[in-house]
Parts: sequence; structure tokens; C-alpha cells
Amino acid sequence: MISFETALEKVLQNTKTLEAENLPLLESCQRVLAAPVFARENLPPFDRSPLDGYALWARDTEGAAAKYPRKVKVVDSVPAGSLAEVAVFPGMAVRIMTGAPIPRGADCVIRQENTQKAEAGMILVFEELQPGANIIRAGEDVKKGDATLAAGDVLSPGDIGLLAALGHTSVPVFPPPKVGILATGSELVEIFEKPPKGKIRNSNSYMLAALVREYGGAPVMAGVCEDNIEDISRSIEKILLETDILITTGGVSVGDYDLLPDALEQAGAHRLFWKVAMKPGTPLLAAVKNNKLIFALSGNPAACLITFQQFAGPCLLKMQGRRDCNHKWGKAVLTENIDVRKSSHLRFVRGHWRYNAEGVPEVRATGSQKPGVLSSFRNHNCYIVLQEKTGPCKGDWVRVQFNQAVTANI
Ligand code: AMP
Ligand code: MG
Repeated sequence: MISFETALEKVLQNTKTLEAENLPLLESCQRVLAAPVFARENLPPFDRSPLDGYALWARDTEGAAAKYPRKVKVVDSVPAGSLAEVAVFPGMAVRIMTGAPIPRGADCVIRQENTQKAEAGMILVFEELQPGANIIRAGEDVKKGDATLAAGDVLSPGDIGLLAALGHTSVPVFPPPKVGILATGSELVEIFEKPPKGKIRNSNSYMLAALVREYGGAPVMAGVCEDNIEDISRSIEKILLETDILITTGGVSVGDYDLLPDALEQAGAHRLFWKVAMKPGTPLLAAVKNNKLIFALSGNPAACLITFQQFAGPCLLKMQGRRDCNHKWGKAVLTENIDVRKSSHLRFVRGHWRYNAEGVPEVRATGSQKPGVLSSFRNHNCYIVLQEKTGPCKGDWVRVQFNQAVTANI
């Protein structure tokens, strides 16, 4: 049986990064930039005021203080979005609002709070300023020609703001992978149906679609196949035509109706491996057809979720051009014994991690660890990963793994 690490290496080796596309700016947030972006303009585009006050000559403020005000005449007013109509000469000031361009002649801005209105359109100035005080220079944020963003950057809301300010309406990014989701099992009914006795709702397709979204992909719901080898194999071929990667759930174990291994072969897929030394999720099968990955996951909901995160997740990140697709690991002290048997496989235990009052990371299991149980995912924020044949006790340091869909940017 293949080890967890070798299996992960194998699927990542068989993962291709998608071709970049120009996407509208709004759709490019959280996507990976495929080429550097050079600033076509200065940002800000002109010298501007960062506050409400008066633009004037610094020399006219020489020696000014609360007790020794200097006086200048206000000759114009310039709100944000307008230009002053006159230039500023010695002895003069122009009323200026935040964001307005600095009028010609002025070399500083005095804050309104440090002035006082006087008679005949004059103001008193209570502060001495140096030339350049309170002026934001053109290009202070970004200089024309600078590489503002690099290929491989994951675009954050701040980056989107920067690109918008520079006038980019679309950017070259790696698009969301289209992920086919196929459930198999004759016991499955739609989630809006009341299942007759012996049947259950197809919850895995929805869970997988949510996972696909969390990892930046676009789910393509391909419905349900009964446990029928021809149906499954035909569906697989059809879905692969319109998607970049396929995830199936159910029918991959060794029961009489576990038809996925044969159905995949019939569909012409080349098997990478079947069964991984991990719990839950041992009966995972990975295959490739036409350079597209296929993951056949267990139907057991917890096994399905965990194997998606461990294998399909990193592959989806790689397809989107992420620099770092690796899982994020840490260590923590176990605060309670874990109710699982020692296993000959690597075991993923749903856990809750936190820093205690002393700043020491600690972790506990969140409940039942059976492969069909979903309720213990409710409060989990990590996996406690137990090495083969180990059974750590309360007080022991253990390895923990964090969800890399959320931490991939760090
Ligand atoms: P299988 O992997 O087909 O052996 O199924 C293992 C368990 O998961 C069985 O109890 C199935 O009824 C259940 N199961 C299979 N497919 C789904 C699904 N799409 N949604 C929820 N449970 C499922
Ligand atoms: Mg089944």
C-alpha cells in the first residue's frame, strides 16, 4: 500500500498548472497573478493634500507659534476634484481640502486646526512649517514603471485596490479549475427528497462543492450514478470532456458494488494508485486521463472530506499557480487522551487547536473519529496527525496540520 507522502507526491507530479487568462478585475481577487504588473502611471497622480487646511509658502510661517501668529490672505479655495485658479505668492494662502491638488507656488499645507480665521479674509497661522510639510508627492505610493505586483502573487483586496487605482480593468491570472463532482451509490437521493427507508441523501456532492470553492475552484455538479459500471464509466468520460479535474465519491472500497476501480479502467483512465496507508480514507484511488486527474474518494463523509483536503486540495492550488501547495504543520500539547485505536496507518484526527493562557499551543480531539461521522468537524480547526502505531497520551506533544486553503497565503 502506498504511503501518504508518496501518494501526495505522485498526484502533485501529475498536476498541471492551468493556462492563464485575462479575468475582469473583480473576478481576480484571491487568484494568482500570471505575469508582473508594471505601473503605467504615478500613484497618486499629482501632489496632493492629506488634510483639510491651507496651502501656502513655508517661509510665511517662519517663527509662527501659538503666541506669535503670522497672518496670510486667503485668495482661493480648492475642494477635492478641483484645481486652484490662482497661484500662491508670498503672503497668500489657498484653502485646501483632503485629496485636492497642491496649488502652484505653495510648498506646504497647514492643518486647519493650527489656524484661525481673522478679519478681511485673512487667517492667523500658529505653526512653523518646513517646505514639503503635509504634501503627498506624486508617485509616493507607486512610481510609474515600477513592478507593483509580481507573477505568483495571490491577489488580495488591497492589490485589487492598487490595480483599480492604476486603471487595470482586467489582469492575467490562473482561472478557477473546473472540478467535476460525481456521486455514486444506489442508496442516494437528492437532498430535497425525504429518503425512503434504506436510502440517504447525497450530502457528499454538496460538501465536495463547498470544498472546491474553498480551494478556489469552480464545482461542476455532475449528479449521481447508481452502482452500475456502464453508467459510471460513461459519466466519467462525459464529465472529463468539460472539466479540468474529476472527483467521485463512493464505490471505491472492496465490496460487491464498489465499481469505481473497474469503471475507471473501462473509461480509459490510467491508475496512479489505489489505497493509501491513512485513516480515514484508505480506499482512495487516483487516476489520470488526458492529463486530467481523477480522484475516487470514499463515500464515507469524513473520509471523503479528509482525503479531498489532503490530496485534491493541494492539486487544486497547484492548478491555480500557487507557489506553495504544501500542507501547513505545527506542534501542540495534547490536553485529553484520544479515543482511537493504534493503527498501522497514519491517522488524521479532527482536532481543536489554541494557545493556552501561557501561550503554549494545545490541542484536543473534537469528538467521534469514525469515517462516517460529520459532527466532529463542527469545532475542528486542525488535524492531529498520529504517526503509524503511535498512541500519544494527554500531555504529549503531537503533530498538527492546518487547513492550507486558508493559510496558503502566509
Ligand atoms: P461506499 O464508499 O460506497 O462504500 O460508501 C460508504 C458509506 O458512505 C456508505 O454508508 C454510504 O451509504 C455512504 N455514502 C456513499 N455515498 C454518499 C454520498 N454521496 N453522500 C453521503 N453518504 C454517502
Ligand atoms: Mg457504495
